[in-house]
Parts: sequence; C-alpha cells; structure tokens
Amino acid sequence: MPRRNVDQAAIDDLVERTRASEPRAVARLISLVENDSPQLRAVAAALAPHAGHAQVVGLTGAPGVGKSTTTSALVAALRSADKTVAVLAVDPSSPFSGGALLGDRVRMQDHALDKEVYIRSMASRGHLGGLAWATPQALRVLDAAGCDVVLVETVGVGQSELEIASLADTTLVLMAPGMGDGIQAAKAGILEVADVFVVNKADRDGAQQTVRDLRYMQSLGGRFDEPGHWRPPIVKTVASREQDNGIDEVLEKIEAHREWLESSGEGHGRRTERAAREIEAIAVASLRERLGDVHGSAALGTLAEKVVAGETDPFSAADDLVAQL
Ligand code: GDP
Repeated sequence: MPRRNVDQAAIDDLVERTRASEPRAVARLISLVENDSPQLRAVAAALAPHAGHAQVVGLTGAPGVGKSTTTSALVAALRSADKTVAVLAVDPSSPFSGGALLGDRVRMQDHALDKEVYIRSMASRGHLGGLAWATPQALRVLDAAGCDVVLVETVGVGQSELEIASLADTTLVLMAPGMGDGIQAAKAGILEVADVFVVNKADRDGAQQTVRDLRYMQSLGGRFDEPGHWRPPIVKTVASREQDNGIDEVLEKIEAHREWLESSGEGHGRRTERAAREIEAIAVASLRERLGDVHGSAALGTLAEKVVAGETDPFSAADDLVAQL
C-alpha cells in the first residue's frame, strides 16, 4: 500500500520536526489529531515514545475572573525563567475548529511572535465528543515538542471545569473578590480539584475576605493536614499589573506542586488514571461505531424479532449482540 507508506513517512517527518519545536509542524500535527483524521492512530503511535516531559497546568474559574489575563502573565513569567510554554485555549461551547478565537485574544498576541510560546485555540467537540477526546492528543503533541509547561485555559462558559482538572497535572482555580465564588465553588466540587487557589483582582475590596472564606472552607475539609497530603495554597494576584502582581508566587506554587507530584507518586497515579479513562473513552467510542454497523443488520433484526416474540428479553439479546462484535 504505497499511499499508506507516504503518509507514514510524512507523519514521521512531522513528528521529527515537532520534536525540533518547529511551530508549523506542531500546528499540523494538532490539526491532524484534533480533526479525528484517518491519520490519527498513526500520529498517536508515532508520538507515544516522546511523552512525559511537560507539566500540564489547567486554569479554571468563572468568566471574567481573569483567566486569560493570568495566563498571559504566567506566560511572561515562565518565559523570563527560560521555560518553553504552550497555551491551549479550549472552548467547550464552540462547535468550530481552528484558530478563529485567537484573533479575539489580543493580549495573547504579546507572545505570539515569541517562537518559544505556542498558542493554540481549539474546539473541543470532535465527533467522538468532549474535551476528553481532542485535548489529550493536542497535549501529547505539545509534550513531544519539548514544552516545559502547557497552560490549558477554558474560554467561554461551560461545565468544563472538572474536565479541565482531569486533564491537568496541576489545576489552578481562580477566584475574584465579590463574585460569591467561594460558595459556588464549594457547590460545583471545584474545591476538591484545586491544587492552587488564585485570588485574582486582589487590588479590589474584599480579596482578603475571599482568602478567609477559602481558608475556612479548607478547614472544614480537614484531610489536608494529614502528613503527605498537599494543602492547596492560596495566592493573591493582580494579574493585570505588570509587576508585583503575585504571579511569581503562583509559579513557585506550581513548581512546588510538581515536586510534590513526583515525590509522592501522585503524579504517576494521576497520569495512569487519565490514561485509563482515555482508553475507556476510545474503547466505548469504537464499540459504539461497531454497534452502528450492526444497526439494521441481520443479527440485530433476528434478535429484535425474538424479543418481540417473547423468545428472549432485551438484556439477553444485548449480551448476544455484544458477544458477536
Ligand atoms: P477571563 O474571562 O476569566 O479570561 O477574564 P479576563 O482575563 O478576560 O479578565 C476580565 C477582566 O478583568 C478584564 O477586563 C481584565 O483586564 C480584568 N482583570 C484581570 N485581572 C485583573 C486584576 O487583577 N485586577 C483588576 N482590577 N482587573 C483585572
């Protein structure tokens, strides 16, 4: 199959160039995995040996809390520290793929010319559905490209906070004073997923109260005080300020969390759990596809007749069908 060979050679070439951090190769590979292209499997296989370097940092929080401002400030700080950074802006509500969003993200353009910073926005609803599908593949590409840190930021409103957390090694939960965020966060289960709390807009009244609220809610949890546990620190920031903005402290906490992930074994545990869920999602999608082929098939027709005739029940019939796959 000569065509297949050409594809494979092209993919190997893209992976090589990605490993050399060539932005166009990175972009091309992300498009290939994002669009669930026929080459997806070959790309995933070619990337597999090059994984495990990048620290994936998720940013989550209500719209307007300062996620994109904070992302931009973190990029600047990481670049000053000579780290290679990528930003994945994920829009869970957008059915469209591609970089259209980037045009709106003006502040990010400060960094767009820096070849060590890779910025990409992606729609998350592939036909297999959900953030859980496309984003990990894009993360693998960025990992292979040698990124030290990949910031994953949600754009727009969505129920994606918990999904983001499940993708990240380190999850930053952003809050701002006066948004009633503490209580909302407790309700949404966000307190459990936070590795670092960032109280942004600390130049506004009420920041200290937000910090107190968070401390109080943490004290109700209790378990953080057990030895070996990570107690999510609370950092105040003014992300919109150029200097003395608290961002360096956020970076310190991110680094401390990385060290804890390694020393406690929790990092390996999280990655393994993530891989397990990914395999599961792919397996379910593939089963569904095969069931789709079955739909209208003779085997299904026969089983349906039997159920109607009372010769079998739908559960036994489903077992039969799955066994035939
Ligand atoms: P996102 O929707 O969470 O990404 O929030 P943005 O980063 O777009 O910020 C929303 C608004 O808050 C923008 O107008 C920012 O300039 C402003 N903002 C961000 N950080 C701060 C801060 O620390 N202090 C103040 N006063 N405004 C901020």
